[in-house]
Amino acid sequence: MVSQIREPRTADTAPTGVAIAAHDLRKAYQVGQQSLEILHGISLSVSSGELVAVMGPSGSGKSTLMYCLAGLEAPTGGHVQLAGRPLERLSRADLARMRRTSVGFVFQSYNLIPTLTAAENVALPYLLAGRKPAAGLVEQTLEAVGLAQRATARPPSMSGGEQQRVALARVLAQQPEVIFADEPTGALDTRTGELVLAELRRIAHSPKGCVLVVTHDPSVAAACDRTLFLRDGQLVQELRGASVDVVAATLARLGARSGG
Ligand code: ADP
Ligand code: MG
Repeated sequence: MVSQIREPRTADTAPTGVAIAAHDLRKAYQVGQQSLEILHGISLSVSSGELVAVMGPSGSGKSTLMYCLAGLEAPTGGHVQLAGRPLERLSRADLARMRRTSVGFVFQSYNLIPTLTAAENVALPYLLAGRKPAAGLVEQTLEAVGLAQRATARPPSMSGGEQQRVALARVLAQQPEVIFADEPTGALDTRTGELVLAELRRIAHSPKGCVLVVTHDPSVAAACDRTLFLRDGQLVQELRGASVDVVAATLARLGARSGG
């Protein structure tokens, strides 16, 4: 659990434009002969400067939604706009460039290279792009997620929570404006969860920044500016400035209904 921290929004961090937008977004997967629609026409808009949570029962389509909004999966219907650009008009090269520069994705699985140290994992996207991270950047990023002491450790010797934070540090070191994070605090204790949330908030509230975060933790959602609730591939509710209790009760209600 992460305690509720709210910082007053200052004039220079107020929303300035639309960072992520979806209109009637649909996604179907081909399973054998059948086309199985997972997302049934989702419309949403997230402004620059916003830290927005996505919640919903397991299997409700949260990860699929994040993939489609981030351009990692092609929607089967509707439109997505990311950082002011319609994704369907971008080439693969454009999308790849966007992911190297302005958009970061923290996966639910950590995707770390087991033979590289934490610091090497964080620096890897730079090395793959033939660039060098700025002096001290890797160390600073590891420190920001509470892993300054673990820079030379390798993933197999790290806890799940430590690996999760290396994966986040790798994205933070890219200094993206828009971050998609799929359950980035799922394996963390209260203190490290707060560290991670503080980093996500810092990026969301920076100029042109914006963060969309999937979470099962009502206290994480309550610390976000807004929470979107997904059920069976549809956006069914939205809360702004809700307490932990209200978020938890809303989630419980959705879970109970989707089971029946
Ligand atoms: P969540 O992240 O909310 O748990 P997901 O987006 O991972 O949900 O999955 C939503 C639904 O889509 C699930 O029923 C899942 O089995 C299905 N699904 C996800 N990916 C695929 C895929 N590649 N092929 C077929 N079905 C998929
Ligand atoms: Mg998921």
